[in-house]
Amino acid sequence: MKIILNSLILKKELKEIKNLGFVPTMGSIHKGHEYLIKKSKKECKNTLVSIYVNPTQFNNLNDYKKYPKDTRNDLKILKKLKVDLVFIPKTEDIYKKRGTKKIALSQKDKILCAKYRKGHFEGVIDVMDRLTKLIMPSKIFMGEKDYQQYYLLKKYIERKYPSKVINCKTIRDDKSIALSSRNLLLKPKSLVVAANVVKDLKKIKKNINKQKNIKIYLKKESKSLVKKNNIKLDYLEFRNLKTLKTSNTFKNSRLFIAYYLQNVRLIDNL
Ligand code: AMP
Repeated sequence: MKIILNSLILKKELKEIKNLGFVPTMGSIHKGHEYLIKKSKKECKNTLVSIYVNPTQFNNLNDYKKYPKDTRNDLKILKKLKVDLVFIPKTEDIYKKRGTKKIALSQKDKILCAKYRKGHFEGVIDVMDRLTKLIMPSKIFMGEKDYQQYYLLKKYIERKYPSKVINCKTIRDDKSIALSSRNLLLKPKSLVVAANVVKDLKKIKKNINKQKNIKIYLKKESKSLVKKNNIKLDYLEFRNLKTLKTSNTFKNSRLFIAYYLQNVRLIDNL
């Protein structure tokens, strides 16, 4: 496994490499990331994992500062998985060139997390544009846990580069909580609440089928979810997976949620 800390060296390393799978991460590697890596290793000849906590996608400085980091342990896991290349760049390196044009979301994309985390996806798209341009992978593997991120990047990257963006299922723990590096910030008590929220979401989704008006139903369920679990809710919405438009039918649709536990923002969809 080659560990590369600089984009110039990376460029040289990548010269001879074809059929490259790319798994972008912010580190604190968990089984969700591992699943993406295993899929890349199956589908591509070589796999590159990046570890970079991108400051421009954090709309809250405190959230950026407290984001969990453990590079030493990450490298241990990546080595075990037989990853070919690990790229750990510095911010000065990634942002030394100014972007050609400022990233702007269209009005119809300013929904879900884009509505509640101003500038977040603009930062995500910008850094993924820079990384894709540098790495030029055949495939990029992304998790459905962050479905809106996958949706926006698939549209943006595939329009601009020959790379394909591949979605991978969400990996959960034994209590059905979606794995996330942010879960490391949660006290055991909050993890119990997170498990209860997933349980409630499953019930809510099961009953969607029987509703005449899904919007009114979700409004009512949102209120009881907040009250029962003592959470701060950003949104609970039912949306179509192809268009991300609000959905009125069960088919091809998922329940999307973003909420706070101990000031930690968690997202999920099911
Ligand atoms: P992150 O390090 O949180 O930026 O995530 C890096 C990649 O891993 C993104 O494509 C995420 O969607 C994906 N990912 C994060 N958590 C999970 C999970 N529980 N299951 C599958 N993929 C995940």
